[in-house]
Amino acid sequence: MIVLDGKKTAQDLKEEIKETVAAIKKSGKRAPHLAAVLVGNDGASLTYVGSKVRSCDYVGFDSTLIRLEESTTEEALLKQIAELNQNQDLDGYIVQLPLPKHIDEEKILLAIDPTKDVDGFHPSNFGRMALEMDAFIPATPFGIMELLERYKIETAGKHCVVVGRSHIVGRPISILLSQKGPAGNATVTLAHSRTQQLSELTKTADIIVMALGIPEFLTTSMVKEGVTIIDVGITRVADAAHPKGYVIKGDVAYAEVAQKAAAITPVPGGVGPMTIAMLLKNTLLAYQRKG
Ligand code: NDP
Repeated sequence: MIVLDGKKTAQDLKEEIKETVAAIKKSGKRAPHLAAVLVGNDGASLTYVGSKVRSCDYVGFDSTLIRLEESTTEEALLKQIAELNQNQDLDGYIVQLPLPKHIDEEKILLAIDPTKDVDGFHPSNFGRMALEMDAFIPATPFGIMELLERYKIETAGKHCVVVGRSHIVGRPISILLSQKGPAGNATVTLAHSRTQQLSELTKTADIIVMALGIPEFLTTSMVKEGVTIIDVGITRVADAAHPKGYVIKGDVAYAEVAQKAAAITPVPGGVGPMTIAMLLKNTLLAYQRKG
């Protein structure tokens, strides 16, 4: 059984990006520049944005963190976005989600210049991705594709079952796995909460991507021998025995499913670390596409 080590792969990727950035700077050009907009004080968002900014520093990118009050109006945020769209020294930026309830997320995402949309959430990027054109691919599915490729997991002709159809993970990964090209050419079934007899589907799968957010949902009786498992789920589960008071669980009952799997991502240390690395990769791509 192979453990698909996202932590190590993400570190490898960061080293590669760091080398590229060092060469760019050596040639006298400016470094790639990523900005992150954070509205309010949500604890998890602060953690995510903090580690994105630290990763930028690590690879040698310039980074700007724009923190706005929880009470920021939609109009003020749109004004901020217009400024970022116009800023010639900026290659890409993200608006950390979720936004406060009084702000319409869709309106904000639509206002982002697609050429700077390194999260890949703008419909223009989603459409371009679906049409196999150059696009920014959302970081989590992009990271899964990178893991499959680097570990040389055969996907062509395989049956992949993706569980979860969110716009940021399930649906895009289902599209990518079915496309022509590396880590593609799979026959994909996209399952969701209305799917019937899910176990019958997962039992026929060569590759299963779990992205629903229910801890340890996928058990050993639901999979066949030799399956590849990609576990996207991240849920905090209360655990008084742990110093933090919780543990992180994936959507897969890892200990039992790993016994049957040919390859599996752990949680933590699987898909999660890949997400930030791919955001850096998208920022580098944005820089390179600017020319
Ligand atoms: P969403 O909550 O947006 O979507 C969950 C999906 O799971 C929905 O499509 C839902 O179906 C489906 N679902 C729910 N219950 C069932 C069920 N019983 N059987 C089958 N399908 C079901 O999830 P996200 O994609 O945003 O996140 C999924 C998980 O991945 C979460 O734990 C999240 O924290 C994690 N995540 C991890 C990332 C990383 O970097 N590793 C990045 C993003 C997310 P329906 O559409 O019918 O409601």
